[in-house]
Amino acid sequence: PSIPAKKKAKTNGMVINKWNGKAYTRRYYEILEKRKSLPVWAQKEEFLQTLKSNQTIILVGETGSGKTTQIPQFVLDAVHGHEDAEKNNGKWLVGCTQPRRVAAMSVASRVAEEMDVSIGEEIGYTVRFEDCTSSRTVLKYMTDGMLLREAMADPILRRYKVIVLDEAHERTLATDLLFGLLKRVLKNRPDLKLVVMSATLEAKKFLEYCNGAPLMKVPGRLHPVEILYTQEPERDYLEAAIRTVVQIHMFEPPGDVLVFLTGEEEIEDACRKIVGKLGDQVTVVPLYSTLPTAMQQKIFDPAVENRRKIVVSTNIAETSLTIDGIVYVVDPGFAKQKIYNPSNRVESLLVSPISQASAQQRAGRAGRTQPGKCFRLYTEKSFNNDLQSQTYPEILRSNLANTVLTLTKLGVDNLVCFDFMDPPAPQTLARALNDLVYLEALDEEGNLTRIGEMMSEFPLDPQMAKMLIVSPQFNCSNEILSVSAMLSVPNCFIRPRGEAQKSADEARAMFGHIDGDHLTLLNVYHAYKQNNGDSNWCYENFINQRAMKSADNVREQLIRIMSKFNLKICSSDFNSGNYYINIRKALLAGYFMQVAHLDRTSGHYLTAKDNQEVHLHPSCCLDHKPEWVIYNEYVLTSRNFIRTVTYIRGEWLVDVAPHYYHLSNFPDGETKRVLEKLFKKRGSHIPK
Ligand code: ADP
Ligand code: MG
Repeated sequence: PSIPAKKKAKTNGMVINKWNGKAYTRRYYEILEKRKSLPVWAQKEEFLQTLKSNQTIILVGETGSGKTTQIPQFVLDAVHGHEDAEKNNGKWLVGCTQPRRVAAMSVASRVAEEMDVSIGEEIGYTVRFEDCTSSRTVLKYMTDGMLLREAMADPILRRYKVIVLDEAHERTLATDLLFGLLKRVLKNRPDLKLVVMSATLEAKKFLEYCNGAPLMKVPGRLHPVEILYTQEPERDYLEAAIRTVVQIHMFEPPGDVLVFLTGEEEIEDACRKIVGKLGDQVTVVPLYSTLPTAMQQKIFDPAVENRRKIVVSTNIAETSLTIDGIVYVVDPGFAKQKIYNPSNRVESLLVSPISQASAQQRAGRAGRTQPGKCFRLYTEKSFNNDLQSQTYPEILRSNLANTVLTLTKLGVDNLVCFDFMDPPAPQTLARALNDLVYLEALDEEGNLTRIGEMMSEFPLDPQMAKMLIVSPQFNCSNEILSVSAMLSVPNCFIRPRGEAQKSADEARAMFGHIDGDHLTLLNVYHAYKQNNGDSNWCYENFINQRAMKSADNVREQLIRIMSKFNLKICSSDFNSGNYYINIRKALLAGYFMQVAHLDRTSGHYLTAKDNQEVHLHPSCCLDHKPEWVIYNEYVLTSRNFIRTVTYIRGEWLVDVAPHYYHLSNFPDGETKRVLEKLFKKRGSHIPK
């Protein structure tokens, strides 16, 4: 009804897309036919009726039934008035959250295609550091973390008519917090509706939590999947996975293969090895979170005729993205999972066994279009006895400093009374509160300070946010911005296998700074800028141009937040001799809780206060072992490594973070004795 007469005339009686006033293309109708065959379409009316008469709905359905792509479109049809997107002009939105950024981006593009509109216009997405929406946007896919950020600025989520919490079964930290938050918001906003969507399992928990909300089940169309276990445990799951793929290709009838591995490096390695063995008899596609956008779409391209497609993926493909045509699944039984130990404050990503529930989801991917097979690279006994039944919710496996900061900013004063679906351990909450007090984000009473207020606006971990906020005091905010940006993007160094590896290592060494990796990253950033981001320069120096571009983009966004708080953007004189010292001190001002001290007797580093033995990561550029170092990350593998490490001086601990290095609460040991000397040397009286 709102299409201008002129546009109407031009379309010659063709059906008009109400969202952009253009005639539908042929492709639209082609996809529409496919969409209509998805299981959720059979229940469209039932869903809309239930939505009409309830504020909250829980929708459970098998992966691939059309929840993520179709339900938000149904919702949109139901709630849109007669205005087109232009008239709506940012007034209201339907939002759909995803735990993973790749899923948010990929699904948004797909839905834009399905609705025959351009991505970023009527259909958009927001993920950290990337906002692809406009004032015309009526349906927005976003990471759960981004909706949480929006709630900090707009606690009642005024702009949303309906919120769809998707992949609720994943129980990510942000989704869990949104659950608690939305429960409050729904009470104050009777006009807001919530749709909770989940793959099978855990539904009972959601039902109890959303007291009284109706449950709608979308029956899956799963074909039987034959499960095959290994007779003996596999020693090397990567090698076993590759061997299994080759065997499937040689002995099984046509059908694509999905292999679950744990991360980018492992996946790229496996892809190369599979291509090495099977050559162009197969099409091998990787899938992981840092995959370039253009490559992501390749996952969905149908395989070339007579060629088997082999998708090698992280657990993104477990429930977040559905790839059609998979008949065989190879499941080594591992995934990278976050773990947290509150007693030593170590949060780490660790390759660990998946749960039985995950294994079942993975197997299910083989039976979407026809009967399939799942090859589990572990024994049946191990499945029954060693795997836990469910994956623990992330909130029970995380450092909660950021969570506590977010909730405090959201006005939740009493964390103990917050309606968590699974309340975190009191010890973890206490540790988080303590850390925030050390960072001066909270005062002793737990109230948000001015610094804490600022910190909560940065989409960064609290330590990095603190470092940025204080960096003008060290006269190096320019440099700290660059370092922060570099730390926020994927690894900028390319390290190919084989012959080129040596050249890559040599190129990398050219950027090396004698005082550590943070400064090396700064060197790379500066060199990249000096060469105007030239792609040849990147290629010749084994620098990942994509990572550098996103670092530039992240840096711009951080500058905007700095300016908002009038934080000065400044640098020390490069020739002053203090240039690097100031930067290292600023690093310490944020990361003083991530310091390690060299124990002279053993020759090993011990983390300050927690006394964990750690080793410099092999990628570290330091050619000696300084007495004190600061680190960005704690990596748990066969040994405990600290990665991205920079040399700092002991005296600075006493200067920059005396409250943390207060001797009264410092465990006895060599580190304490050294600190005692440092306090004495400063002439400052030793704090008791
Ligand atoms: P669910 O959320 O229930 O797991 P989805 O809505 O994600 O289901 O998927 C429904 C269908 O849409 C699947 O058949 C899937 O293969 C297809 N699909 C999703 N994204 C794309 C894409 N980018 N390209 C092609 N097909 C896609
Ligand atoms: Mg989905």
